[in-house]
Amino acid sequence: MAPKPPLLELVDVHRTYPVGESTVNALRGVSLEIREGEFVAIMGSSGSGKSSLLHILGLLDNPDRGEYRVFGQNVDGLSEDGQAGLRNHVAGFVFQQFHLLKRMSIVDNVRLPHIYSGLKGDFRHEALESLKKVGLLHRLDHTPGQLSGGEQQRVAIARALIRNPMILFADEPTGNLDSRNSREIMKILSELHREGRTIVMVTHEDEIAAYADRVITMRDGLVVSDQRPVRDGVPAGPVVPLSVDLHGILQASHKLSLWQDGRFIGFVTQAFQSIFANKVRSFLSVLGILVGVASVIAMMALGEGAKVSIQEELKSMGSNLISVRGGSAKVRGAARGDGAVARFTFKDVKDISRLHSLVKAAAGTVNGSGQIVFGNRNWSTTLDGVGYEYGAMRAFIPSVGRWFTRDEIRKREKVAVIGITVARELFGSRNPLGHTVKINRINFKIIGIAPAKGFSTHRDQDDVVLIPVTTAMYRVLGKDYLNSIYVEVRSAEGIDGAKQAVTDLIVKNHRLRDGDDSFNIRDMTEIQEMLESTTNTMSMLLGAIAAISLLVGGIGIMNIMLVSVTERTREIGLRKAIGARREDIMLQFLVESVALTLSGGIIGIIGGIGISALLAVFAGWAVKTSMLSIVLATFFSALTGMFFGLWPARKAAELRPVEALRYE
Ligand code: ADP
Ligand code: MG
Repeated sequence: MAPKPPLLELVDVHRTYPVGESTVNALRGVSLEIREGEFVAIMGSSGSGKSSLLHILGLLDNPDRGEYRVFGQNVDGLSEDGQAGLRNHVAGFVFQQFHLLKRMSIVDNVRLPHIYSGLKGDFRHEALESLKKVGLLHRLDHTPGQLSGGEQQRVAIARALIRNPMILFADEPTGNLDSRNSREIMKILSELHREGRTIVMVTHEDEIAAYADRVITMRDGLVVSDQRPVRDGVPAGPVVPLSVDLHGILQASHKLSLWQDGRFIGFVTQAFQSIFANKVRSFLSVLGILVGVASVIAMMALGEGAKVSIQEELKSMGSNLISVRGGSAKVRGAARGDGAVARFTFKDVKDISRLHSLVKAAAGTVNGSGQIVFGNRNWSTTLDGVGYEYGAMRAFIPSVGRWFTRDEIRKREKVAVIGITVARELFGSRNPLGHTVKINRINFKIIGIAPAKGFSTHRDQDDVVLIPVTTAMYRVLGKDYLNSIYVEVRSAEGIDGAKQAVTDLIVKNHRLRDGDDSFNIRDMTEIQEMLESTTNTMSMLLGAIAAISLLVGGIGIMNIMLVSVTERTREIGLRKAIGARREDIMLQFLVESVALTLSGGIIGIIGGIGISALLAVFAGWAVKTSMLSIVLATFFSALTGMFFGLWPARKAAELRPVEALRYE
């Protein structure tokens, strides 16, 4: 059997740092072995390369030249993630500056390495065990800022212990502590060594180095002495070593997935912790997105509301209607004079209504103006002579009073249905039903009031008087022909067919040439199309506003994330030291920026709904918030966070652990 390789082995290791134009040779050919169970102190004056050496031993940094083997495995052959896995599974770190995360409680700080371990559970129990080992079982839910230096260092040691590491790396662990606290910390380290852990500790104090059983002294990047002091006549030697499954660790650290073991939930929790730690700044940074989303939601609600009310108005004009009028659609009457206007008759109406497969009903109308007198009141208005079917077709059936009967129309009775504008002008608050008025000096009895329709684009639709078409033609207006025919088509799909059939019929009845333009046929779909194109323009405008606000908001987010990455450089270094891989850091910052934009987006949505509700209540505007706009706003604000958070997150992920830790 081959002899077991040393735990850690350096062969002629060099490390050079570029400083401006020149370079600093921190390590200039260091060779040494550290065996399992040793307690090694690295000594030397300031600047002699102790920390550089420890960083390489702890896989926080890699040599420029020479070889470093861990468990006989050359670290050159280990990926970044593999090294992160090793740091998490076999190493614990204790630094002079403690490097605790200030926002987190003591317990959360201690169990932090478990986020990157790939193990399931909340590890509170383990954190308590670990804290018990360092004698710190009080003030668990305080934050590090509330503890003394000695206590903070004990928390840091507890954190280093939670993964039960084989090797403990400590860089001047007592450097910031008074002598009493130093002794406490050293007692803890000695105890850990007695348990079988290998300890590599940097110090420049002889008193502290005396706890170790091997002292390596450095000067100018070289090892100048390596001694094993003899205590009480017995050489200090390794105690019970722990064992480790190197292969398993390397495998596992490559396999960790995002959703495994609640890692993602952990990132989300931390993201919100950091967002709430800087409430004002977070709020200001999402303001752009918030305002943008709110205005888009409100404007879309307005647009949708307008669309719905226009559609309702269209419905009140009657659905699936086509109208046939005399005159050219292009230049009405101007091209060929009045002679070119087709003159419709009741025969046309009858023939059209016989197109049963397509047509539900047809009604002829004549139009003119009427002078209406009641008592001493006098009103001039539009006078429409209409057929029986017209009432149902165009939704004119009165809700007060009644519609004409077929008999009344046949007998040219003098009865009238008036619009509410006319009713108000002539009767004020009195009930017009049953009263007699004079229309163009002829007595008419009022039998109904047409339902209110409001204003269409150009006129008051309630300012109208309806009388039977026959009465209008032969008694009031003196016309022999109909002005137009309204046709109700059975279904929306039949409209084009019906238009063609009606055209053919009229061409035949009036012996017109094909393509004659002495009449024209229109349908409501034209109005709908116009409406649609207006709505499309509106949506495009809204889309542009949304895009600009998300862009501007996104740049704000990117800016704040870059600031955040810079501010938290040391935190990133610490996280990497305890085993965070590139992907973990990247994800943490991405989650944070998405959480930011998403919260901004959601507040924006609520704000937008609020604004449209206020507009509806106080300005009386028709609004309708669509689910689609909410879903889109949510989606795009998350996407903005993703997109603009990517660069800062990558920047954070690419930091080298040792550089990040040194960042001031
Ligand atoms: P020690 O821990 O013994 O005080 P270090 O290992 O920290 O010494 O540093 C050794 C030498 O390398 C010093 O001269 C230091 O200024 C230099 N050095 C260390 N880290 C860097 C760095 N990141 N960039 C430039 N110079 C560095
Ligand atoms: Mg140092």
